[in-house]
Amino acid sequence: MLDSLSLGRGTLLLPAFLPDATLGVVRTLDSEDVEACGIDAVVMNVFHLMQRPGSSTIRALGGLHEMFGWQRPIMTDSGGFQAYSLIRENARYGALTDRGIIFRPEGSRRKINLTPEKSIQLQMAYGADIVVCLDDCTSADAPYEVQHEAVRRTIAWAKRCREAYDQRLASTGQGEAERPLILGVVQGGNEPDLRRECAEALLEIGFDGFGLGGWPLDTEGDLLADIIAYLREQIPPEYPMHALGVGHPQHVVTCWKMGYEMFDSSMPTRDARHGRLLVMDDAGSGPPEGDWFSYLYIRDEQHVKDGRPVSETCDCLTCRRYSRAFLHHLYSIKDGLYNRLATMHNLRFMARLIERLRGDGDGR
Ligand SMILES: [Zn+2]
Repeated sequence: MLDSLSLGRGTLLLPAFLPDATLGVVRTLDSEDVEACGIDAVVMNVFHLMQRPGSSTIRALGGLHEMFGWQRPIMTDSGGFQAYSLIRENARYGALTDRGIIFRPEGSRRKINLTPEKSIQLQMAYGADIVVCLDDCTSADAPYEVQHEAVRRTIAWAKRCREAYDQRLASTGQGEAERPLILGVVQGGNEPDLRRECAEALLEIGFDGFGLGGWPLDTEGDLLADIIAYLREQIPPEYPMHALGVGHPQHVVTCWKMGYEMFDSSMPTRDARHGRLLVMDDAGSGPPEGDWFSYLYIRDEQHVKDGRPVSETCDCLTCRRYSRAFLHHLYSIKDGLYNRLATMHNLRFMARLIERLRGDGDGR
């Protein structure tokens, strides 16, 4: 199991949780806030960023790190998941072909073409430290033929991504120490043979690490644990694996035990904005076991005069300075400060969880 990744901007300790900064910002936080939570890296999304603020603006601002005032690592996602969530849900929003993905945002006539080559070129031009191949994403309950087709296309696109990556490295002259890492994404839904076929083909093409592709949960919201564990076994342990879209605290622990090192999700920050705060219920050290965390719903009337912090064991800015009662008040009057304080707390929770997993590698 890897305990760190060497990146152009230094070493990223593993495991790592990367909050969602889709449009170049962890919503409601500035980069100092994100650092204060103990977050070491964030994930941004090329599909969204190429639309807003747009590639020429990002270039004019000097890249994503300059734009967000953030000098720690940034991973960019490729847009494959957005094709799945937009187009597979509703063909009005675009089409997938072997050439690439055509998006029609909000069903408009304006078209956005995203090819594997373009996705990689933009991610590298934006200055990302970890870039991700464009993939053809499916849901695990799609029929076998659909999964098979997605795997075929994902492999073909991964080859093109790798070529575009190598070409850009050659043209920029980036050496081994400065180059971004490139991750391949393994598709295949809930089908072990397809996952294995995809993993073997991507290993053959050659990547620095791999991502768990496809929606990781079943229709009940439960982790697809069997196939996720199976996939990890198909990838040699010297390659880091990113459980894309996994961010529920217990799912992070479960995937970490299987050998996944990287996680990203919008769940903790979105939960915070919606009044759902994460609280550790155990002593707060070592890898968690049993019922170790719970949710605190800040809108509940029981918090109106409660002077305690959200969590007695949390060391975040919010818990050090403010009471549940004050947060309840801010939430009730819809003050923007609520979103910031709540988001900081939930991110600190995720960072503390990661620290616990890093601190005791024998707990697996
Ligand atoms: Zn806190």
